[in-house]
Amino acid sequence: MDSTAKTHLVGLDRHELAELCRTLGVPDRQVKMRVEQLWNWVYLRGATDFDQLTTLSKDLRATLAENCDLARPEVVTQQISVDGTRKWLIRFAPGIEVETVFIPDEDRGTLCISSQVGCTLNCTFCHTGTQKLVRNLTAREIISQMLIAKDSLEEWPHLTDRDAARKITNIVMMGMGEPLYNFDNVKKALLIISDNEGLSLSKRRITLSTSGVVPEIERCGREIGVMLAISLHGTTDDIRDKLVPLNKKYPIKELLAACKKYPGLSNARRITFEYVMLKDVNDSLADAKRLVKLLSGIPAKINLIPFNPWPGSPYECSDWETIEAFAEVVNRAGYASPVRTPRGRDIMAACGQLKSESEKQRASERRKAANAAAE
Ligand code: SAH
Ligand code: SF4
Repeated sequence: MDSTAKTHLVGLDRHELAELCRTLGVPDRQVKMRVEQLWNWVYLRGATDFDQLTTLSKDLRATLAENCDLARPEVVTQQISVDGTRKWLIRFAPGIEVETVFIPDEDRGTLCISSQVGCTLNCTFCHTGTQKLVRNLTAREIISQMLIAKDSLEEWPHLTDRDAARKITNIVMMGMGEPLYNFDNVKKALLIISDNEGLSLSKRRITLSTSGVVPEIERCGREIGVMLAISLHGTTDDIRDKLVPLNKKYPIKELLAACKKYPGLSNARRITFEYVMLKDVNDSLADAKRLVKLLSGIPAKINLIPFNPWPGSPYECSDWETIEAFAEVVNRAGYASPVRTPRGRDIMAACGQLKSESEKQRASERRKAANAAAE
């Protein structure tokens, strides 16, 4: 079998692992046990090589090595910001690259995962939306981002004390791409990530951010069951149509009606509404008042995100006083600490900046290739 035809174990659920075992000739009565062993090695211990699978017989290890793959995708670069934020550029195949960001805080460590290469939605303030190439990531590619982060943070059971605190305590699907446009793969990946016997990150600590794909919102709650964040950014359809063009298809009223019906919604499980602060576009006190009015009746948190500029971006971030005045209105309406501190700006790892490094990288590779060709 050539290596491209090998089945990659990362991304397989229990059902698929069982099928694989049967195909490889594991006797029926052993399948259940083998599945649990493989699950443990792949998702709990982060194995990258079949030699590490010491609870399996030598023969089975050899069969697996011949037919399957466990290697990580290529990490093209890892950057560490002065504030401790880490960013990885990961290449799954030539030209198929995404960025993943880890943001350490005093009380938590948040991993920001991508769901697509690029994004089809073209929000006018977002760098990812300007990237032409778009493709859905597979479940393997989504999960691999977490595995790579755990490798880098040395967060595997055999590398840390049993009592050591987890470094990745939260996951946000807020990297590149629209997760609800890649529903099946995102669902599969998040169900594996939240499985108790593997990566075991609680669904309450996983947040999926959407620009408002209304028809998938209910399913997201029912079938995946993670926390929801909505990229709202505008308080009237006129403004939101310009910022988030998907609003023309699913306007604010429909979006909020879907939010109200989100399965599992309660005061303990609120929806986060993200609102990027754009100077003279959506940052007036009238906007702030409209925002709290729109959200009344929905168990909500509000996250004001200072706009992170990127080369050629058509907007500016609101002045700090404007953000404070806006936050004050939001605060008075009962929403606590609503402003999100930008992190990792020095390595272009902040919200909406993802893509540039890979593009730069590609540009520099093109230059290198051109130079090599010229020599
Ligand atoms: N596609 C999904 C998830 C990825 S974007 C979505 O849009 O929700 C994650 C968050 O970053 C979104 O709220 C997005 O609107 C915000 N964002 C995008 N570009 C930004 C920028 N330049 N500055 C600040 N936030 C930005
Ligand atoms: Fe896509 Fe989200 Fe960026 Fe909009 S904000 S272009 S939906 S990644």
